[in-house]
Amino acid sequence: MQIKDNNTQIGKTIWVPATQVNLHTHSRYCGHGTGEVADYVVSARKNGLEVLGFSEHCPVPDNRWKPTRMVYSQLPAYFSDVERAREKAGMVVLKGAECDYLPCYRSYYEDELLHRYKCDYLIGSIHFIDMPDRKDVRVHYAPISAKELAQYTKQYIDLLESGLFLFGAHPDVCGCSYLEWDREMEACSRAILEVAADLKIPLEINGNGFRRARVQTSKGLVHPYPLEPFWQLAAEYGITVVVNSDAHAAQDVVASFDDCLALAQNCGLKVAGLEISGPDAQGSYGLRYVAQ
Ligand SMILES: [Zn+2]
Ligand SMILES: [Zn+2]
Repeated sequence: MQIKDNNTQIGKTIWVPATQVNLHTHSRYCGHGTGEVADYVVSARKNGLEVLGFSEHCPVPDNRWKPTRMVYSQLPAYFSDVERAREKAGMVVLKGAECDYLPCYRSYYEDELLHRYKCDYLIGSIHFIDMPDRKDVRVHYAPISAKELAQYTKQYIDLLESGLFLFGAHPDVCGCSYLEWDREMEACSRAILEVAADLKIPLEINGNGFRRARVQTSKGLVHPYPLEPFWQLAAEYGITVVVNSDAHAAQDVVASFDDCLALAQNCGLKVAGLEISGPDAQGSYGLRYVAQ
């Protein structure tokens, strides 16, 4: 397999250290990010990245979650922007999407995103909790009960078990709305970590949490996520850990990397780099996170 980038062969299978990869990037398409896809490529080169992946919040055909997602009809324009940017990037640019997972959208993600649009990768997230009496509770904002936390955990496990995702994004984002690290939170964290470890799916320490307003807990003001106790537990389970900035502005392509790496180190976690091969005859890359 040969790596090609901007029609220039840059080698066979390569391994790129975590500090030179960001696969979690948004743009103006999601409605709450800013900047054009091309702006992020310029910023990535300036900041020394070797690999930049676009993972816009993915729409679904019924436009559920629409206020914070691009609309379904914009999907082709988004992917063409990424393809155009990739042609003249001078670095590896990957095409992806951040998908809110619910089993009813599984075949859509697989058939349209992976097969029809040939995404290089998908990342899985839970931003909304689907309760029988309270639809799509927003994990970033609403205070949630222990019952809702349990449902968040179930959805996150479904996401991991779907087999669609290169990694699970911000598994501890529930720290925005469930503010105390108590027995329920520990049990839910362990349930997610156990499945990620069994299935060998990497989990992400997400830099965006460091840039959000702190939340008041009984231990004082803390970052809503990443949650240090979660990542301390992750070390017990031997999880593969990845780090991304979750940029919503071009200047943030490597934002909070230092904080994420310091947290990993404090918790005794080794951060994985990205092994990348291809593209193959169909233009697809092989991607695998490996710690070295
Ligand atoms: Zn997200
Ligand atoms: Zn994101």
